[in-house]
Parts: sequence; C-alpha cells; structure tokens
Amino acid sequence: MADFLSTGIIDAQTLQKLNLIPSPERIRMGPVAIIECPQEIPCDACVAACPSHAISKTNINSLPRIDFDKCTGCSLCLLACPGLAIFVVDLSPTNGKAYVTVPYEFLPVPKRGDKVALLDRAGSEIGVGEVVKVFMSRDRTYAITLEVDYDKAMSVRAFKISSRR
Ligand code: SF4
Ligand code: SF4
Repeated sequence: MADFLSTGIIDAQTLQKLNLIPSPERIRMGPVAIIECPQEIPCDACVAACPSHAISKTNINSLPRIDFDKCTGCSLCLLACPGLAIFVVDLSPTNGKAYVTVPYEFLPVPKRGDKVALLDRAGSEIGVGEVVKVFMSRDRTYAITLEVDYDKAMSVRAFKISSRR
C-alpha cells in the first residue's frame, strides 16, 4: 500500500481500508458519492451540502463519513467540496459502461458529447470517455459526468480535453 502522505496519491486499497468505498452491491444499485478525503482537516462543507444528511463528522477536524444507504448520488457535496475530493460513481448500467462524475475547475469547460482523455488518481491516462452531462454550482464550480468503460469506473478521477477532439 503506497503512503499517500508521501506520494500525494491515494489508492483504492487505502480507501477501502479507511472504509471510504461503498460495497459492490451498493455501487451497482445506482449513483453514490465516494469521498476521497483521508486527512483530518477543519472543513465540513460536504456535511452542510448534503440534503439527505448522509455525511457526518464527529467534529470539524474528523474524517467525513458517509452513509451510503442514504446517499442519492445528487452530487451536491461534490460541488461544495473545496478540496475536489468527492466523486459520484454509478455502476448500474448493464451495457458495459459506467458513469463517473468529477469536479472540474479548468477552462475550457467541455460540452456534452466531447470525447476526453480519462485520468486516474496519479494523473495517468487510462482511456477515453465521453462527456454526458455538464452542470455547475452557484459559485460556478463545474461537475462533469463521464461515460467510461465499466472496469475503469473506480479508477477514473479526472480527465483532460484532448487536442484531437
Ligand atoms: S451525493 Fe448527494 S446525497 Fe450523496 S452524500 Fe453527496 S450530497 Fe449527500
Ligand atoms: S468538503 Fe471536501 S475537503 Fe471538506 S471535509 Fe468534505 S470531503 Fe473533505
């Protein structure tokens, strides 16, 4: 298990160990938030943003915890998170595809139908996905939903716009 404190990159095994990954059964049921925020920092924007009261912290510095059964996958916590640490994953499609919603703070903002290069947590390219939804918060933080291959859904955490669009 790589040490994310020294590399700056967390991996799926560490997230699993920290109980931050929903069960496979829950992810297959429909969109659900995955909070990749493993350090104790004084922030609770995600807690305040959730209309389903699915996220909790025992104090302002503790790690956020999510009740995956309460989460509806609405993405409001994702839009509110200043750390860009929340993603919404949907493994319910049965056509070999999955949906991953990621925060996005770059320009230009992609549009629906664009093909983009998918990036993993380390920023390495791992394939091509398609933008299926673009939405934003009141403060103009964007969230982009990507259609990706099913087996990449737990790895894709960012994207870049290809110059060959
Ligand atoms: S996706 Fe929506 S329901 Fe789920 S934890 Fe975030 S704000 Fe709450
Ligand atoms: S809003 Fe983001 S950075 Fe703040 S506690 Fe929640 S997940 Fe962590």
